[in-house]
Amino acid sequence: MNRVLVPLHLDGAMPLLGAQAHRLDGQTMGTTWQVRWEAVGPAHAEPVRAAVQEELDLVVAQMSTWLPGSDLDRFNRAPPGTPHTLPEAMAEVLQAALWLAEVSGGAFNPAAGALVNLWGFGPSPRYTDPGFAPPTHEAVQSALRHHDWRALRWDGAHRQVHQPGGLLLDFSAIAKGYAVDRVSRRLTGMGLPHSLVEVGGELRGEGLRLGGQPWWVGLESPPVAQGRQPLPTTRVALHGLCVATSGDYRRVYTHGGARWPHTIDPRNGRPVANGLASVSVLHAECLWADAWSTALTVLGREEGMALATTHRIAALFVQREPDGRLTETLTPAMEELAG
Ligand code: AMP
Ligand code: MG
Repeated sequence: MNRVLVPLHLDGAMPLLGAQAHRLDGQTMGTTWQVRWEAVGPAHAEPVRAAVQEELDLVVAQMSTWLPGSDLDRFNRAPPGTPHTLPEAMAEVLQAALWLAEVSGGAFNPAAGALVNLWGFGPSPRYTDPGFAPPTHEAVQSALRHHDWRALRWDGAHRQVHQPGGLLLDFSAIAKGYAVDRVSRRLTGMGLPHSLVEVGGELRGEGLRLGGQPWWVGLESPPVAQGRQPLPTTRVALHGLCVATSGDYRRVYTHGGARWPHTIDPRNGRPVANGLASVSVLHAECLWADAWSTALTVLGREEGMALATTHRIAALFVQREPDGRLTETLTPAMEELAG
């Protein structure tokens, strides 16, 4: 059986008569981006490419862990006790991240950069480097002393934070989604309201395609053990809707038979090991889809279902059972989209 998820509200956009389909792609944030749009008349590919690049470059210049000299990098290297006024976009993302850190009890934590680095998921050393070894207990304990997001003393009115000393921000779990939102809004602002924007697997669909169809996308499902039934395919109609997925089958580090996904549980300083194969979240804003999918991955199925249900988040959990089967659980808000 296959599952179809459709939005509960239609925004009334009319499909364009005589429109043509266009597409551009490129690289950003260590991954790929893709933009598709439908419009009448000439493609205007060059202005679209320039606009997309400008939005992506802005997010990278402010929020990249990888770009020396980004605003985030400069904050991370700053001496203890220094105040920093953040640029607007970075402040907007930090504010959202701090809210989710509070409601998830620190399962999502934008101040977990030191832990992310220790496990080889930051810029250097990489878990893929020859001879990379997982951190010692002492190293983890020491990093756990520098990941208290409240020590940032965030002042929203002045967009100000303090570097308490040794605190490393990491926006990798939320910045891709935010970038998708920015690009999508920019296209709409340019008079292109029918578009599908993707950065590294996080997607936002607006408007309609030719013939009045929404942007249909399939959810990537985790691979199953040999001899096991694959999961039903899930197709989502992205019409004023975004989807983000976090999974243990992408970017895993295996060591001595253990699988370590690139998501850290900041509450104990270790990679998550709760048997979740993936979590997909649907939301009107890709920033929230991205951040929630990471938060729920850390919380695991039981705690994650409870929190997502309280906040009316549409989420699909795929659990790897001890016998190798994959089982799916949907929050009530996701059940509603499934009709
Ligand atoms: P995502 O693919 O959106 O789940 O983001 C994963 C990335 O976010 C990792 O590569 C880390 O850089 C960072 N990260 C890992 N664990 C956490 C966490 N618990 N809270 C916030 N960011 C995290
Ligand atoms: Mg995420």
